[in-house]
Amino acid sequence: MAPDLIPIAAARERVLEAVSPLPTEQVPLADALGRVIAEDVTSAQDLPPFDSSAMDGYAVVAGEGAELELVGESRAGHPAQRALAPGQAIAISTGAQIPEGADAVVPVEQVELRDGRVTVPGVRPGNHVRHAGEDMRAGELVVPAGATLGPSELAVAASVGRDRLACGRRPRVSVLVTGDELVGPGVPLEPGQIRDSNTTALSALAARVGADVLSREVVPDNLDSTTAALAGALERADVVCVSGGVSVGPHDHVKPALLSLGVEERFWGVALKPGKPTWFGTRGDRFVFGLPGNPVSAMVSGGLFVTPAIHRLLGFTHPPQAATARATLTHNLESQTGRDDFVPVRLVSRDGALYAEPVFGKSNQIFILVRGDGLVLVPRDANGLSAGAEVEVGLF
Ligand code: AMP
Ligand code: MG
Repeated sequence: MAPDLIPIAAARERVLEAVSPLPTEQVPLADALGRVIAEDVTSAQDLPPFDSSAMDGYAVVAGEGAELELVGESRAGHPAQRALAPGQAIAISTGAQIPEGADAVVPVEQVELRDGRVTVPGVRPGNHVRHAGEDMRAGELVVPAGATLGPSELAVAASVGRDRLACGRRPRVSVLVTGDELVGPGVPLEPGQIRDSNTTALSALAARVGADVLSREVVPDNLDSTTAALAGALERADVVCVSGGVSVGPHDHVKPALLSLGVEERFWGVALKPGKPTWFGTRGDRFVFGLPGNPVSAMVSGGLFVTPAIHRLLGFTHPPQAATARATLTHNLESQTGRDDFVPVRLVSRDGALYAEPVFGKSNQIFILVRGDGLVLVPRDANGLSAGAEVEVGLF
């Protein structure tokens, strides 16, 4: 039986309502790049913790120009051992603590030093002083839960003294591909065989958004092998991505195998091209995506459904959005209504304007993904798009 097709948005909704963030774990700062933080990080104290100098120079009491007695030094990490009185100066380095009694710094270039005395020009209070707490206040929220930990967030966490951060556990993803015709790299092709590209595509798609890809397996087209492979994957992984074998052919065993393993179907068939024969089901806290075998379809469907599921499992509050570009369509695009069509396009820059040139081809033609730069959506209510239309290109 052919599936009843549901719109992309409804299918995504079913995925997102089934999936919730994974439990958290403590991650050392050095391993936390790219992770999603599951706690609010606040500063325990004012930062910087003390008034310091922004220049190499002399700490003084602000006032008119004067000749001052040099009475000591404050170096970064080694504060001066004494306070400063009017009529005195203390040599100071960038980042060193402002000595007690001083309230301004005169840069070294502006003073004359002779016989233990320095002649300084007039300065205002606070001149070249970095004030305690001007960066962060004690108790201030500095990295919110749900943020992605990039170099900047990690640096801020380090600056407030954190050595570990609570992060959402990375989802474990298992990728299975079905098909008697499939062979991996490094072996010659026999008659009737093709190379498996979906293992690489789906593993990379999942890894790129932060998943931990556990196992990859080519499964022959019979029910026993399919059931055994899926049973193993369901033991190990939070998310199982299986490509091919999810249609209604006599050698499509994925759906019956999943049903026999107690995986409950949440949807099958999306009003989408390419990517129509997409299946999604759950068993407890395990999520299974049955993706089309055709490589372009698998990629489109993986991007539409698997990526948001991984984002949700990781605990993103604001999942990263794919980059887009606006361009002018160069050709008419035909499509049926009632179905969202994604058309691969190449971006071409001409006379300062950006054009989207369709890369026509079939969904088994994986090279489309490299010849093209992204996808244009012809929405389900539109009967095609005309040349000259302004379109948004979702970049690969
Ligand atoms: P299926 O959904 O199993 O009927 O497969 C649809 C088409 O995708 C067939 O032409 C398959 O040969 C092809 N295909 C299935 N799996 C893969 C894969 N892992 N890599 C490349 N092509 C595949
Ligand atoms: Mg197949």
